Amino acid sequence: MEILDGKKLAKKIRQQVKGEATQFVERWGRPPSLHVILVGDDPASHIYVRNKERACKKTGVASHQHLLPQETGQAELLQLIRKLNADNDVDAILVQMPLPKGIDSGLLLSAIAPTKDVDGFHPINLGKLYAGRAALRPCTPLACMRLIEETGVELPGKNAVVVGRSTVVGKPVAALLLEQHATVTICHSRTRNLAHVIAEADVLVAAAGSPELIKGEWLKRDAIAIDVGINRLEDGTLTGDLEFEAAAARASWITPVPGGVGPMTVAMVVANTLTAANARLTG
Ligand code: NDP
Repeated sequence: MEILDGKKLAKKIRQQVKGEATQFVERWGRPPSLHVILVGDDPASHIYVRNKERACKKTGVASHQHLLPQETGQAELLQLIRKLNADNDVDAILVQMPLPKGIDSGLLLSAIAPTKDVDGFHPINLGKLYAGRAALRPCTPLACMRLIEETGVELPGKNAVVVGRSTVVGKPVAALLLEQHATVTICHSRTRNLAHVIAEADVLVAAAGSPELIKGEWLKRDAIAIDVGINRLEDGTLTGDLEFEAAAARASWITPVPGGVGPMTVAMVVANTLTAANARLTG
């Protein structure tokens, strides 16, 4: 079994982005820029935003934060998004989720210009993903795919099982696996006999948000196991959706939590910022 080290791979990606960001500055006279909108005081969200800012600094991507109070209204947020959409020096816009109650997150995400939608959640970008067309693609699913690529295992014809069907992770990662010619099964809370489905998986992507839901003994021997789940236990420790030790005993490759998909997602945000900037400016 080998550990898929997300921290190490994220560093490699940041180095690539740094080189490309330098070229971008030479060509356009300014760095690519990411604007993050964060509403309220959710501590986890503040950590995520700080991590993105750090990754930007390390790569020479300009990061701008719009830290807004909890009581900020929807109209004000829409106005800010429209202003950023219209600003030619803004390449990428990210609205940190979750938003306070009463704000329609779908409406805000749809207001972001699709060309600046670094998270790839705009319906146009999600539609293009399903249509197999070039577009900005969601960062966590991209992170999962890049980690799988690192194993060197060829995906065509492999059985891939995704646990979770959210728009943020489950559905888009399933689309990406399908694009790579895997035979994809998507599981969710109504799936019958999850263990039985997982036993067939050459590649497993777990994104249920349920601590150690997936038992190690369910895994097919030598499976690739990607654990997206981030679950904080009562004692403050983080755990994934997989029973790590037991899963590691059966898997050929496995991502740890923390240190797997998390740091890679942040690296993909920065990489997507550059993709957005290049695509927009070169038309
Ligand atoms: P959601 O809560 O939106 O979706 C969870 C999905 O898992 C749902 O489709 C749900 O099914 C399914 N599910 C829940 N319980 C079970 C179960 N017992 N059996 C089978 N399926 C189940 O979560 P997200 O997709 O947003 O996130 C998933 C996890 O990934 C979370 O832990 C989150 O913190 C983490 N995450 C990590 C990121 C990273 O960077 N590493 C980024 C984004 C998320 P149903 O649809 O039927 O309700």
